[in-house]
Amino acid sequence: RIVYVNGEYVPEEEAKISVFDRGFLFADAVYEVTTVLDGKLCEFEGHCARLQRSTAELEMPLPWSREELLEIHRELIARNELIEGMIYLQVSRGAPADRDFHYPEAGTQPSLVMFTQAKSLVDNPSAARGNKVISVEDIRWARRDIKTVQLLAASMAKMQAEAAGADDAWFVQDGLVNEGSSNNAWIVTKQGTLVTRDLSRLLLPGITRASVLKYAEAAQLKFEERPFTIAEAQDAAEAFSTSASAFVMPVVEVDGVSLGDGTPGPVTKRLRELYIDESRKALL
Ligand code: PMP
Repeated sequence: RIVYVNGEYVPEEEAKISVFDRGFLFADAVYEVTTVLDGKLCEFEGHCARLQRSTAELEMPLPWSREELLEIHRELIARNELIEGMIYLQVSRGAPADRDFHYPEAGTQPSLVMFTQAKSLVDNPSAARGNKVISVEDIRWARRDIKTVQLLAASMAKMQAEAAGADDAWFVQDGLVNEGSSNNAWIVTKQGTLVTRDLSRLLLPGITRASVLKYAEAAQLKFEERPFTIAEAQDAAEAFSTSASAFVMPVVEVDGVSLGDGTPGPVTKRLRELYIDESRKALL
């Protein structure tokens, strides 16, 4: 695999990052995962805009323009002959001369690392089966709207889910579902209304979430952006999660309670198809 590190395209085993890199020592880094379909980028504009917002919120320099980032994404797709999968991008505040809690003086070069991951995403057996989720307490920091690389709580949640025989975890705070461990959480009520939590510092503003809301509105589906409880999810007709790499992923069980007949529901399946079709029309 050819990866990108600070201006160079190198074989992955030759890529190097300093031990003083603040991404490594302080999780002082933000990331994006952009899906590739048919050898092209899905939702590039949304991911690029969120990256710019994440860095701005952290007062982190981002000395690459949208055009330069697009060019690197495309070059990596070409060099790795990627047809379907993801591109991971990480920007950190760089590698000052020594470890120090304070941000380095202006002039320290941020680090930019990017790599591809080939994966079959449209044809995904989990989407046919649907995921079982468990609820876990949300122990993450309070700025989840910024896409930082501090993902240990998400890793722990996924390990807990696996240990419980489930596929994923939903983070719950004060009795309300914030989002999934690496996705936004949704339910479809018995009246057919889509519900996903409204945006705030409690959750990541998903790029897929925004598009699904847009397509749902265009398809004249009813939706509400508001919090919901695990009990409401267990009583829902359907549930699903959204993320760049999983698109619209059916959820068929919440804390051991099956939803509907325990298989992916019709609204979820329709939204998954709609999302993939619309995304395919807008590849870059
Ligand atoms: N929430 C969290 C915590 C995530 O990690 C992700 C995936 N990056 C999402 C939501 C979904 O965001 P997106 O649709 O932009 O992939």
